[in-house]
Amino acid sequence: MRYLLILILIGASTLAWSQSPENSSPERPKNIILLIGDGMGMSQVSVSFYFNENESNFNRFTNIGLIRTSSSAQLITDSAAGATAFASGIKSYNGAIGVNPKTESVPTIFELMSKNNYATGIISTSSVVHATPAAFYAHVFSRRMYEVIAANLAESEVDFIAGGGSKFFNARTDGKNLYDLFAARDFEIHTESIPETLSGKKQLIILAEDGMPKMIEGRGDFLPKSTDLAIDYLSKNKEGFFLVIEGSQIDWAGHDNNADYLIGEQLDFDKTIGVALDFAKENGETLVIVTADHETGGLTLSADGNDYNKISPIFSTGGHSATLIPVFTYGPGASSFNGIYENTEIFHKMMALLNKK
Ligand code: MG
Ligand code: ZN
Repeated sequence: MRYLLILILIGASTLAWSQSPENSSPERPKNIILLIGDGMGMSQVSVSFYFNENESNFNRFTNIGLIRTSSSAQLITDSAAGATAFASGIKSYNGAIGVNPKTESVPTIFELMSKNNYATGIISTSSVVHATPAAFYAHVFSRRMYEVIAANLAESEVDFIAGGGSKFFNARTDGKNLYDLFAARDFEIHTESIPETLSGKKQLIILAEDGMPKMIEGRGDFLPKSTDLAIDYLSKNKEGFFLVIEGSQIDWAGHDNNADYLIGEQLDFDKTIGVALDFAKENGETLVIVTADHETGGLTLSADGNDYNKISPIFSTGGHSATLIPVFTYGPGASSFNGIYENTEIFHKMMALLNKK
């Protein structure tokens, strides 16, 4: 009787072990969608729950981790070093775009995956030459070198580009019109609105002179709509795709200490996450990662005075903070992102899952 019980217990635990997703061989995604909420710490994520009329899309993630975000030279990172950590897997100094502390170029995940015939895309609500998107395709020693970054983009392998920044392409100090370079490389260029249908050509969509308008000033559905279009376009590539989407102005709202601005940007980012997750759920081969480069504003969702039924967002700084940053994942390989680790591990975990050289 006693032996029988032991056998049953062994049998049950073996069954549980073999059925547990954590213990099965790691699944590999074909596609990765990385969404970066610039300046999005836990309080900003919490805004998605307390100031949202809809259910937050953050509820849909299956795995959560935390990252430390310090740069090579500073405890508190900026967006350039933060994005370089994600794009190239190295710690560099604040201001560095795709270069190491010696200012030498380091390969980015876009460049590495393009060699494996991956399609790549970048979308931001800042100009597309701003630090976060730039770190995925450019190599400059200072994030302020916007015109050089734009020239790097024109020579890059990126297939789908959407955001602001026309003045860095067609109103340059060197007099060049970079749109001509894109056109020569068979890009379709849109400067008025997001196209309704895809032509099959590579897409350059630049809809503002510099950053896109704020949500509270009428940006509308640019971010979710361009994300939907990018997924439509990139998913036609049979080798797979890598898409980066930045909610750039969560950071700017934090710098401005403007809660209404922040709420608009955070909820727009939340909605965009929903677009990515809807695709990933249906597609089954796509890993969605949502994280941030750092927190901005030192935001706290305090009680309004002694009224514990009312939240009054309060900022403690006009700059960035060092708080740990959450990483949310869904899809094949999602469990690889559990735990507490350095921001550079995002790159290494993605590369390990893609299993390409
Ligand atoms: Mg940014
Ligand atoms: Zn910032």
